[in-house]
Amino acid sequence: MLELDAITKVFRKRGPFGGGRSTVALDRISVRIGDGRTLGVIGESGSGKSTLARIALRMIAPDSGTVRFGGRDITRVSGKALRDFRRKVQPVFQDSAGALDPRMTIARILREPLMLRGDVPRAEWSKRITDILTAIDLSPALRDRYPRQLSGGQRQRIGIARALLMEPEILILDEPVSALDVSVQANVLNLLRDLQRDRGLSYLFIGHDLSIAEYFCDDILVLHNGVQKDFADAETLFRDPKDDYTRTLLAAMPRQL
Ligand code: ADP
Ligand code: MG
Repeated sequence: MLELDAITKVFRKRGPFGGGRSTVALDRISVRIGDGRTLGVIGESGSGKSTLARIALRMIAPDSGTVRFGGRDITRVSGKALRDFRRKVQPVFQDSAGALDPRMTIARILREPLMLRGDVPRAEWSKRITDILTAIDLSPALRDRYPRQLSGGQRQRIGIARALLMEPEILILDEPVSALDVSVQANVLNLLRDLQRDRGLSYLFIGHDLSIAEYFCDDILVLHNGVQKDFADAETLFRDPKDDYTRTLLAAMPRQL
């Protein structure tokens, strides 16, 4: 459903004497996320994972390559088709929690996507918010709280709820649990799994913990300095990694099994 084809992105930094250095953040990356599946993107810091996420969200444009959603090249769409894409592909970032406006109650934060959508009658908003809080295993009573009154895990759930209220088809999850305590990470991951099953969502999941990727992802892309090292279903990749770098990565990162 979401296909990235030969995506290249170079960041240019201007040096003090003209000239400058370039970083090839992504070098001809080609992957696809199937319906209802989870594509994991793993790699060390600086390998290009977030750049790929931002391109998949059309937050930034690639230098070359195409992003197709439902068969359509979204690097070129505008107007209604772009609004449609922005609604169906929603981000959840590591700091979704920190990005919540501290002066807004949870109810107010969750009203924003409904306002943005414009197709849900105002009279239904309150019920939608109660329903989504229940769906993410939070008490509807939290609606009158402020973000600082919630735990990190609860705030990340609110970030997920806000994305879900747009009724997306794909969530782009950029290190969604990396800022959370290990004990809370499993809860949020289990929630994401249940939501995927119940709502038929597809995920692009970025992480750096291999044990999480193995547990959570159907397919895995391994990135190293912007280069695609491996792209395979998770089982094959962990059982029989083809690429030398992937092998090193698997050997270097301790996995709790
Ligand atoms: P990751 O998410 O895997 O840590 P990123 O996609 O954030 O990696 O970054 C990949 C590379 O691109 C890094 O070398 C980073 O410094 C560089 N980069 C990312 N965004 C920018 C930017 N806006 N301007 C310049 N360089 C950038
Ligand atoms: Mg990143």
